[in-house]
Amino acid sequence: MADGRTDTGSGEDLQIQVSRCLRMRFSESSCRQCVDICPHEAVTLDGGLSLNPDQCHGCLLCTSVCPAGALEHGSDFAACLAQLSRVPEPLLGCIRTKENSNAAVACLGGLSEEHLLVLCLSLPDVLTLNLSDCADCTNNAMINHLRQRVSTLSEAGLLSGGCRMLLTESASELRFQGEAFDRRNFFKSLRSSLFQGVAAILSTTCEQTEQRSEYARKYLPVRRVLLNKNRSELPQELAVPAMKQFDSIISFGECCTRCQGCVAICPTGALKSGLPDAPPGFDQLLCTGCGVCTEFCLDGAVRLSRFLD
Ligand code: SF4
Ligand code: SF4
Repeated sequence: MADGRTDTGSGEDLQIQVSRCLRMRFSESSCRQCVDICPHEAVTLDGGLSLNPDQCHGCLLCTSVCPAGALEHGSDFAACLAQLSRVPEPLLGCIRTKENSNAAVACLGGLSEEHLLVLCLSLPDVLTLNLSDCADCTNNAMINHLRQRVSTLSEAGLLSGGCRMLLTESASELRFQGEAFDRRNFFKSLRSSLFQGVAAILSTTCEQTEQRSEYARKYLPVRRVLLNKNRSELPQELAVPAMKQFDSIISFGECCTRCQGCVAICPTGALKSGLPDAPPGFDQLLCTGCGVCTEFCLDGAVRLSRFLD
């Protein structure tokens, strides 16, 4: 840039798997979440999922909503979390604020509710999201989305079981400290479970990378894998709120013919072939609520609902 400041990211920060898009699995899928959230009209679905690189500024908002993992971050979230773990009150920034942050992702717009919950659970004390350079950024539409996500999690009570999460737009309010701060004592004070969580996430990223090389394999978006791997870290009283926030339920009506079509169309493996005269089995942890099974069933036998306690 002319003023010497780092610009925003780009479409290179996105990993696109066109074959994962629900529109590719089922031409009558009504999913258009990526298009609806993109502030730059960079994503199109006419003729299949595609990204206009001239219009994409790498805000990563689309990755935070795609229920099929067709759009994912290029950011290494595991490395980011490990870096944040090295200071007591870390700052998480973006490509524009990385010099004044303990770790950075391409754009904070890619932090889904699941990412935010995992950050909250994994870190002690306080995590500050560094928004100090966001107001005049071309990706500033993400600020409201990020605030809404934090607010949603907070209202669901899900941010009460981990670190305090602050969103700061004022540079003067940021307290940036390097990694060397009393590191030995800090490490001693951490619960070992936090490090286990980080290790689980590191292994998650490896598994996902391996799985993505297989064209037809069923798998979850990374943010859902992160959530599932960290459910054991949730305090008991937050387990049900987490299910209400993130989980769906599939049930089958009397008209189900046991054709198993929904099993085939499900991108995540949440539906499994059952006994010959029984409806498919359902794994709640693997369902992203994408709804393509309900749209695909000609008999209208598949019902999708939110988890209710
Ligand atoms: S949100 Fe994902 S599944 Fe839905 S249309 Fe966009 S790329 Fe396809
Ligand atoms: S069970 Fe249905 S709603 Fe859930 S992920 Fe599979 S296709 Fe989507």
